[in-house]
Amino acid sequence: MSTFNTSSPVPIALPAVVLTGRGTAAVGGPKNFAKSIQEGVRLATLRKPGKDAGRLTKLYPAGTAYLWGATPTDQTGNRKALALATRSAGDRVLFYAEGEIIAQATILDCFDNEDLATEIWGLDAKTGKTWKHIMALTNVDEFDPGLDSGPILIPLIGRRDVRTLERRTAVEFARVAHLLEREADDPAGLLVPTRTDAGHGEVVQTVRTAYSGTRVKRDTKVSARVKEMYSNACQVCGDVMYALDVPRSIGAHIRGLGAPHNGPDHISNILCLCGKCHAEFDWCTFHIARTPTGSLAVFDTLTRARRGDLRVVEGHAIDERYTRYHRDWCLDEAARRKA
Ligand SMILES: [Zn+2]
Repeated sequence: MSTFNTSSPVPIALPAVVLTGRGTAAVGGPKNFAKSIQEGVRLATLRKPGKDAGRLTKLYPAGTAYLWGATPTDQTGNRKALALATRSAGDRVLFYAEGEIIAQATILDCFDNEDLATEIWGLDAKTGKTWKHIMALTNVDEFDPGLDSGPILIPLIGRRDVRTLERRTAVEFARVAHLLEREADDPAGLLVPTRTDAGHGEVVQTVRTAYSGTRVKRDTKVSARVKEMYSNACQVCGDVMYALDVPRSIGAHIRGLGAPHNGPDHISNILCLCGKCHAEFDWCTFHIARTPTGSLAVFDTLTRARRGDLRVVEGHAIDERYTRYHRDWCLDEAARRKA
């Protein structure tokens, strides 16, 4: 006799979970996290990817890698050794810092590379070891503010802090996984999922032909709010498009949602654009950058000529980490085209 409830659809397979600490400021934790998880590591700038150069390019076709390392352990059979030996692609990773879970991500691949780890993070201030056990991550999803670690960690490891790398099985993770799901309709309209639709522990890699901010289809309250702020007028050209007599616009994600871009669905990452400007933005025909006088402007990617100012209404704070990401991606595209 089956123990599954036959009236329910296919049982949902949750991933296993890997718990890691971000590290305190004293050991450079916030700096490392900003560099290799929030900003991402530009592959083109790496001097020593060594044997993993090809692997990284394949994992991150857009040229920015999300990496996190762990120092080796001298013991065998302890929790960390076990986690290092068993973690694998598809596992969820939770980042712990100062009483909170601050981010989650999905493992794409694991590999050891001492030179690469030294180049990115230097040496561990306490032990002098390198973070050579590297996890290549995707679907990075930050919690801001962080989530109270107790309800999530205590059922998993019996403590509210992460002291060493640990892995728990999918069955164990199932007890707390729901605490990491975001509300689809956050009342503040600020936080909604940034994960792709890969779900269920699968890792979906997409092959890109153009920069698409809307590869993951999602018409959320967040983008509706941005469109409303501009009454559907394009932030680039000022036009309002009409479907018969209904004004229409597109809430365009600056840093695309979904792999490999993994941008957030947040107003700071969304522009209100008309259909034409949206297509040109996705195709990298133009990008957004800050001018020396401090305003955000529209630049032609090929000629770098300034087309005009980006219209920004009060209350729409655009995060320049995302415009920089899109600009870098576009300039890379232009360079590849020329090569
Ligand atoms: Zn337009």
